[in-house]
Amino acid sequence: MSKSQQLFEQALARIPGGVNSPVRAFRAVGGDPVFIERGEGSQIISAEGRSYIDYVMSWGPLILGHAPPEAIEEITRVARGGTSFGACTEAEVRLAERIAEAFPSIERVRLTSSGTEATMSALRVARAATGRDKILKFDGCYHGHADSLLVKAGSGVATLGLPDSPGVPRALAELTITIPFNDLAALEQAFEAHRDELAAVIVEPVVGNMGCVPPRPGFLQALRRLTAAHGTILIFDEVITGFRIARGGAQELYGIKPDLTTLGKIIGGGLPVGAYGGKAEVMDLVAPAGPVYQAGTLSGNPLAVAAGLKTLEIVSRPGFYEHLEGISAQLGTGLVRTAHDAGVPLTLNRVGSMLTAFFASGPVEDYTAARRADTAKFARFFRALLDRGIYWPPSQFECAMLSAAHSYEDVECTVAAASEALRILQET
Ligand code: PMP
Repeated sequence: MSKSQQLFEQALARIPGGVNSPVRAFRAVGGDPVFIERGEGSQIISAEGRSYIDYVMSWGPLILGHAPPEAIEEITRVARGGTSFGACTEAEVRLAERIAEAFPSIERVRLTSSGTEATMSALRVARAATGRDKILKFDGCYHGHADSLLVKAGSGVATLGLPDSPGVPRALAELTITIPFNDLAALEQAFEAHRDELAAVIVEPVVGNMGCVPPRPGFLQALRRLTAAHGTILIFDEVITGFRIARGGAQELYGIKPDLTTLGKIIGGGLPVGAYGGKAEVMDLVAPAGPVYQAGTLSGNPLAVAAGLKTLEIVSRPGFYEHLEGISAQLGTGLVRTAHDAGVPLTLNRVGSMLTAFFASGPVEDYTAARRADTAKFARFFRALLDRGIYWPPSQFECAMLSAAHSYEDVECTVAAASEALRILQET
């Protein structure tokens, strides 16, 4: 029995399902999870001492790779001065300024400790600002595990094939309207049916949580037009895409200005963080500026803020996103070519350094199409990659993420492993 297997057995005795977040359990791909001892650059090293090229990257925060020396130095320096004060610090102000510089739609921003808190709080503000209760989300989008948002959700909910979660009061779930992503007609119908009842539309502008699904041309523009016309607040959930697909996220890439934006992951450089922000007139409803209550013991935590500030400094250096685009394009092209050579139907969706190889033959533009992918084939692909030292996300419905620490050699190695894995799929 390997060390990871031993640890998982012990974990199962004390932690539900052996994990602190569901997708980590490898349920969708079979086998026991690998326990990680440490990370370095593009690699993680398991409890057994085996190295893997990592494409999970802690599900997005690690755009600089594991243990980036400059950030670790800064976190260590700050930690020596204390880990939390529950009081104001200069660094929080600087992080808010850096976020507002990159996201012109954000005039004021509040830090939280997770993406879940950010989206939950953004909804609360939107409801307060509009005096309306209903919200609209898209099938397969995941916005954290707050009650209102666990309806037709992606990510682990999709991975485990769960229906909407028990424990969410029906009365609350009924306030969440869901429609397919990228479906303009459904969007127009929803506004027709609920015209002056929708407080907010929340969307992952590039979906990461049903696998990577980019918006069809014009879809986000239509969303902006309809929300503005109906006094509905448009929330871009950029927890994954913020500072990843461009410094200014999807709103920079597609040229759309949402009313509110949620962030997380990269802005905390791998420490717990989230943020929500937007127009001053809306954000000034948040306590103590206004009456909408939201708080957090560890919000704006000094270590998370230090890691975030250093990360945002590094991603702002010239050429950062060009390098990321170069290696990501190489990986995307390599996977498409090897799948073609092996005769395996594969649809590759990629926006910048987030990508998904769907085991499907047609385009994947919504959750229905994503669910048509051959998850059994994906599971075998995943295991074959793992055997070859590649740690791919353990679900068909998640994105692979690259970091600045990934090299062209890493990608070459990955494509070679994928080529073998796909050939094995065809033979067995
Ligand atoms: N929104 C999106 C788009 C996410 O991908 C996630 C998490 N993967 C969340 C919100 C929730 O963030 P957290 O896990 O930090 O609560």
